[in-house]
Amino acid sequence: MTTTTPALAAPSAGDRFETTTLERRDLRPDDVLIDIAWAGICHSDIHTVRGEWGATTYPLTPGHEIAGTVAAVGSAVEGLAVGDRVGVGCMVDSCGECAQCRDGHENFCERKTVWTYGDEDVDGTTTQGGYSQQVVVTQRFVLRIPDGIGLDVAAPLLCAGITVYTPLKRWGAGPGAKVAVVGMGGLGHMAVKIASALGAEVTVLSQGLSKEQDGRRFGASDYRATSDAGTFEDLRSTFDLVLSTVSADLDLAAYLSIVKPFGAFVTVGLPPNPQQLPFFALMGGDKVLAGSNIGGIALTQEMLDFCAEHGIAAEVERIGADQVDEAYDRVVKSDVRYRFVIDTSTIGA
Ligand code: NAP
Ligand code: ZN
Repeated sequence: MTTTTPALAAPSAGDRFETTTLERRDLRPDDVLIDIAWAGICHSDIHTVRGEWGATTYPLTPGHEIAGTVAAVGSAVEGLAVGDRVGVGCMVDSCGECAQCRDGHENFCERKTVWTYGDEDVDGTTTQGGYSQQVVVTQRFVLRIPDGIGLDVAAPLLCAGITVYTPLKRWGAGPGAKVAVVGMGGLGHMAVKIASALGAEVTVLSQGLSKEQDGRRFGASDYRATSDAGTFEDLRSTFDLVLSTVSADLDLAAYLSIVKPFGAFVTVGLPPNPQQLPFFALMGGDKVLAGSNIGGIALTQEMLDFCAEHGIAAEVERIGADQVDEAYDRVVKSDVRYRFVIDTSTIGA
């Protein structure tokens, strides 16, 4: 029997969220039914709901920062039991057999990564995400949330946390490395915390200085305003890694100018428009321009364990289901400290 669960759905790009119900599939042998406690609001939810990345299929229930507890398990599930604290991130299935999946890069499955919402699932249905009270996910994509982290502050780790952990590890953020984090929103504040915990020297580049105290509390040793033209001159050729979490258009040449020779500018931010790249900015200093897309399941578990070990979690604003539309507008205005999480018990209440 399928499970009917209350959910929030966007009826179209411009309309307010509505309360609805979703049918979650009957448990297959390797499935887990999760009671969702908290769902984070990622800027990707907003880009998608507002049709900024191309066509979206409506009605859509977004949400890929899911934290809750196991409500039931299929007959073949091992190592997870009712009541366990679990999370689900941006993906819910992949082939599990190709070279990428075998190497732990389910996010780049050669056949198809199934994204948590708005994507075609293996059975042909459209996936619907975490702004709901229950979800069914195959066990391979269910993460364990360590006991030390509250479910509300853990939810954002499932996307924001892993998205910044992956490039910080890959590009050598650690003792002796100078890292700049551009944009201190949901992803950015996690990048500051994780890069500092990895031992890097962290500078935040924000539009203004209003969040400086917070940035320093999260572990940054320097905090600069990008609205101040002198910032780029001062910081010329300074950083081994510049990690951009910016959701809007960016002056790439300016940001490449603060990368050291042989260093890297890596973007996880996904502005809707194509960006201009003057190649000269890359050549002087043999610089690397790269992107990074979330991270595999094993690395996501490593990140959760790392955060628990280092006492790191997201800073959140807890909201009810009726505040989601207003929260979207506030995220777009960079007015969130630093991630909204939805108390899913308020959906349909
Ligand atoms: P967010 O909370 O809105 O943070 C984005 C930050 O960018 C803002 O806090 C702001 O930082 C800065 N910013 C916003 N508008 C700006 C502008 N016009 N000019 C300069 N800076 C601006 O969003 P998020 O949830 O962290 O997501 C950030 C981006 O990453 C989004 O594009 C999202 O879709 C993308 N994303 C990518 C992945 C991936 O796997 N690659 C995963 C998740 C999200 P300040 O206030 O400090 O200036
Ligand atoms: Zn996300």
